[in-house]
Amino acid sequence: MSDYRHLLLASDFSEGSAQVAQRAADLAQRYQARLSVVHVVDYLPVADSAYGPAIPFDPELTDQLIDSARQRLAALAEPLGVPEDARWVEIGSPKLEIVRVAEEKEVDLIVVGSHGKHGLQLLLGSTASGILHHARCDVLAVRLTS
Ligand code: AMP
Repeated sequence: MSDYRHLLLASDFSEGSAQVAQRAADLAQRYQARLSVVHVVDYLPVADSAYGPAIPFDPELTDQLIDSARQRLAALAEPLGVPEDARWVEIGSPKLEIVRVAEEKEVDLIVVGSHGKHGLQLLLGSTASGILHHARCDVLAVRLTS
């Protein structure tokens, strides 16, 4: 197996995210690989719904969420030495966007936490398991116990 050349850290800024970030940075150093980071703003406005009141698309709220995500991503990425052009904020379904970014940027290892904001109800969180199912590259799920 050849060395990894480009690692993608997916962060949801949850409790264990610093531990996941440290593991990704250690691996990047070990493989002398590039490290990029991505956060997906999980905000899906419902334009029309048969089941209840529609939640209108709010561009101002979307901008605020993106700005706040950029700041949090910068705070996470800077100590790891990840340059600005390797920090990505996307909107949509986390698992689909993370897999899409990984393919687009020719990532060969995605690093995620085994769990995120959704806690420990499942052996592997739904985002982590969705990425495992859909990614074409290797995926490392860093075991988080809380
Ligand atoms: P989950 O499966 O949702 O419990 O989350 C597992 C892991 O997937 C987290 O520890 C993160 O590494 C990653 N993840 C979840 N949601 C996001 C998100 N919105 N943006 C980036 N990474 C995420």
